[in-house]
Amino acid sequence: MNPLVDLHHRHIRYMRVSITDRCNLRCRYCMPSSGIEWVPHERIMHYEEYLRILKICLKKGVEKIRITGGEPLVRKGLPAFIEQIGSISGLKDLSLTTNGILLSSMASELKKAGLMRVNVSLDTLDRGKFAYITRVDAFEKVVEGILIALQSGLSPLKINVVAIRGFNDDEIPAFARLTTEMPIEVRFIELMPLGCISRYPDHERISAADIKGAIEEIYGPLEHLEGGLGPARIYRIPGAEGSIGLIGSMSESSFCSTCNRIRITATGALRPCLFSQEQLDLLGPMRKGITEAALEELIEEGVKRKPPSHGACRGDQIIQDGPGSQMFTIGG
Ligand code: SAM
Repeated sequence: MNPLVDLHHRHIRYMRVSITDRCNLRCRYCMPSSGIEWVPHERIMHYEEYLRILKICLKKGVEKIRITGGEPLVRKGLPAFIEQIGSISGLKDLSLTTNGILLSSMASELKKAGLMRVNVSLDTLDRGKFAYITRVDAFEKVVEGILIALQSGLSPLKINVVAIRGFNDDEIPAFARLTTEMPIEVRFIELMPLGCISRYPDHERISAADIKGAIEEIYGPLEHLEGGLGPARIYRIPGAEGSIGLIGSMSESSFCSTCNRIRITATGALRPCLFSQEQLDLLGPMRKGITEAALEELIEEGVKRKPPSHGACRGDQIIQDGPGSQMFTIGG
């Protein structure tokens, strides 16, 4: 089978698969506090429908799958789905991004089902600030989830920190210090103009370069490590057990030039670029009985629509809001 290659010669090797738009947190930059119009259940893809798509993509060179959402741990039947994905040949990496709230009760079952590792989103190490940014007082639950995931062997465990000036910039050194104490990767993500960001007035993005500078001010020059298939540049504080990832989604042109990712939304659309509203419906044709060969062609067509870049690193205005730009529907 021909590999999935876009019109800009990028091989697609990494798929992010959103299995729900539901979430048990309401992070200020991601979701409104109320009045959310959830996707009706009948428009959310069934696990068997995801598996049809994944089998084709893995045959065509995808090696890495990340389950996301919404909050993926709120969807029923997840361990069995993980087990089914794990049995598809060609898969090298199967991970999940979670807010960690339900992780302590599910980590060991997920590991047994074949999940290899998790990324846990945690933007602050302070309980009160956690309750503010997520609108739920559940900091301890997330910490417990991280510790149990580590004990369950879901590793390397990564902590995702969205860096927001005026909110957690003062915590960058403390997050970096965690990598000297635990075998984890702390990944700092630049705040992106998606979802609720235009309705979150206190936000301000911190660039990956500034984050690196803030860490180096305290720890000295970071060692640059070989990266994996993901979007982060990886560093280490000399002598540290863990590592630091920097995701320059807004400030670095290599974020797009090396992008090897596509997304499948919870409503069964192939989304070639997180920032582009362009997406191709796969679910409608599947429910109308599309053949495997035609579905494969449709996926190839979706990949061809991948734009060369989202443009923000060239200074283009890409502020997005409203349906179609919500991370919890597209899959973060
Ligand atoms: N519920 C899961 C979680 O919390 O990780 C998965 C979905 S969540 C949408 C995935 C990631 O997207 C989280 O790390 C979240 O912080 C990040 N995210 C959401 N909106 C963002 C934005 N505007 N800029 C940067 N990251 C964002």
